[in-house]
Amino acid sequence: PARPIFAGQLPVGLQKISSIVAVSSCKGGVGKSTVAVNLAYTLAGMGARVGIFDADVYGPSLPTMVSPENRLLEMNPEKRTIIPTEYMGVKLVSFGFAGQGRAIMRGPMVSGVIDQLLTTAEWGELDYLVVDMPPGTGDIQLTLCQVVPLTAAVIVTTPQKLAFIDVAKGVRMFSKLKVPCVAVVENMCHFDADGKRYYPFGRGSGSQVVQQFGIPHLFDLPIRPTLSASGDSGMPEVVADPQGEVAKTFQNLGICI
Ligand code: ADP
Repeated sequence: PARPIFAGQLPVGLQKISSIVAVSSCKGGVGKSTVAVNLAYTLAGMGARVGIFDADVYGPSLPTMVSPENRLLEMNPEKRTIIPTEYMGVKLVSFGFAGQGRAIMRGPMVSGVIDQLLTTAEWGELDYLVVDMPPGTGDIQLTLCQVVPLTAAVIVTTPQKLAFIDVAKGVRMFSKLKVPCVAVVENMCHFDADGKRYYPFGRGSGSQVVQQFGIPHLFDLPIRPTLSASGDSGMPEVVADPQGEVAKTFQNLGICI
């Protein structure tokens, strides 16, 4: 079985963080990392001290989505701590910044890597630590949630019926752990072309989740080439276009965290 992460008391590195927000999805590829990164930079834009912990050890996206000058985490050999790298004032820790990693790991190894990266990082004083969760609701996620004092969870999904079932799983996991799910982000819900709005994956799943589980907020994100391009370019959309439609959605999300 996976070794419990931080069995015992809260690690020193996390003690000066006011809020730890999980951004979670049941599947990969729904836009979880896009939401985590844009949320973090929105909060930073509002004046908060922010860090991002990319816990998606199997598929770390952070190194693609941001472009810090220093792309390798430094160690403090005396204190045996990790110094987060930084991009535009946001502190960043990702397995993708840890040098050559292993692509194949068993669950306990993943938990060990998450443990080491998260607990030995020198986060310092932060208003928010945004955790880009590994996709799913298995052992790794559960262990991470049980030991990190999460303040809130944001669930990212796409509008299909199938996604609804997945979200329900995520909501149940967080509610079992007494972590409030403050918002659902329905990503890729529509696109505009030729003056018309199209809903390629259907409509209504998000509002069904919100009603059924009493989640206070639902946000829609459109399919936008710029969201994808900014993800690939290393500059989050909310930084590249702070007055845009997407930035406004993230500001509203930031307010309810
Ligand atoms: P996850 O973290 O759930 O695996 P990502 O955030 O990495 O998903 O997104 C997967 C891919 O889809 C990325 O290339 C990202 O840029 C792109 N993407 C995510 N959301 C959108 C969107 N609303 N419009 C266009 N592309 C998107």
